[in-house]
Amino acid sequence: MKVAVVGTGYVGLVSGAGFSEFGNDVACADSDLGRIEALRRGEVPLHEPGLPEMIQRNVREGRLRFLADAGEAAGASEIVFLAVGTPPLEDGSADTSQVEAAAEAVARGARGALVVAIKSTVPVGTCDRVSEILRRTAPGTEFAVASNPEFLKEGDAVNDFLKPDRVVIGTGDTRARKVLRELYAPFMRVADRVVLMDARSAELCKYACNGMLATRVSFMNELAALCERVGADVEQVRAGMARDTRIGAKFLFPGAGMGGSCLPKDLRALASIGRAAGVPQEIVEATSRVNARQRTVLFEKIRAHFAGDLGGRVIAVWGLAFKPRTDDVRESPALEIIARLLDAGARVRAHDPQALRQARRVLGDRVEYADTAYAAVEGADALCVVTEWPEFRRPDFARIRAAMRTPALFDGRNLWEPETVRAMGFVYHGIGRP
Ligand code: NAD
Repeated sequence: MKVAVVGTGYVGLVSGAGFSEFGNDVACADSDLGRIEALRRGEVPLHEPGLPEMIQRNVREGRLRFLADAGEAAGASEIVFLAVGTPPLEDGSADTSQVEAAAEAVARGARGALVVAIKSTVPVGTCDRVSEILRRTAPGTEFAVASNPEFLKEGDAVNDFLKPDRVVIGTGDTRARKVLRELYAPFMRVADRVVLMDARSAELCKYACNGMLATRVSFMNELAALCERVGADVEQVRAGMARDTRIGAKFLFPGAGMGGSCLPKDLRALASIGRAAGVPQEIVEATSRVNARQRTVLFEKIRAHFAGDLGGRVIAVWGLAFKPRTDDVRESPALEIIARLLDAGARVRAHDPQALRQARRVLGDRVEYADTAYAAVEGADALCVVTEWPEFRRPDFARIRAAMRTPALFDGRNLWEPETVRAMGFVYHGIGRP
């Protein structure tokens, strides 16, 4: 099939390459010319395991190309995906201006009947608005619009996209359903995992999933604070909860707060949809508030450890990406912790296996960047781990102990065994552990 994808960020690039992987002819478009030029030179502008190989393979086979013009990509296609950003506005609602601009460009370039599927996470009613824009911009063209929210996870996006748990297709239009079903059929040869629904339900379904996942995490973070106060260990509580098949083990990990380009923003957007509809989503709003508080917890522990005086202290920070296996630092809790440490007069030496370049763009020269985890702890007064990269789970503690000026560990992801590291002479602070 001939497919266009507008937006070559984490979602658009993985989707475009993923569709081409199954033999489709895919044109990816982005209004960021620098990004398109980089992709044409064979550079992949983001870190996602398996993605460069998938792009190279499909470009080589002539199934995947990159264009600066969304209209040109749409003109050569029977189906177009909109995968542009929907960042938060000041009031928390989603800014859909990129979606609207992309829809206009698509309409101007359309050369015949076209299915337009919205992959971006968008407020309820956006499919209707995009339909209007398409019809107004190209009145003679036959458009069918569908919501097709994306559920991939950064860090494992290629796998998630090629082997989806489910594919939500939200539209009342028979042609759009048929074309999308046909496109996704090769992704689900073992069992059909398409969930058909109307567009508004599909739009809300994406927010509902992120709302539920975030609620579980904030629940655990709030419980962790209670554990600290009453002398319980949240890790033991979690282990008992996770065995309950009604609850399950996923998204029960307390930590230094949620970040990334999706959960915090989608919580705010869902709350805003609720407020606008006169049905406040109180659980979602509380989840956001608990998360905002949680993002300061690690900093507060560090400050308390140094009795409020961080002036001149060297704090090593391991992990800048909002989660492991990505270079994405959008709304990363590490950046907020670092900003607070700097404001309090500390010196920060940071390391991340993939996100140094992205973090430097935000933090600039106020932070020292270490190429290795061990270089970061040289002469440090404390080590604070914010992102659970696999290589941080079993470091050489003897080497860390020898390198540090004072041996204090702040474990924002409960990666380490308190008794083990305490026996090695460290002062240990985790989340929700006595
Ligand atoms: P991103 O910011 O990484 O990428 C968006 C891309 O769209 C950018 O490259 C930008 O230049 C391009 N763009 C913006 N306006 C354009 C236009 N008019 N024409 C052409 N290109 C344009 O965003 P992302 O992380 O890929 O997210 C995209 C959408 O998918 C968002 O709505 C997000 O909420 C949703 N989503 C993201 C994830 C994720 O893990 N990142 C997962 C599921 C859903």
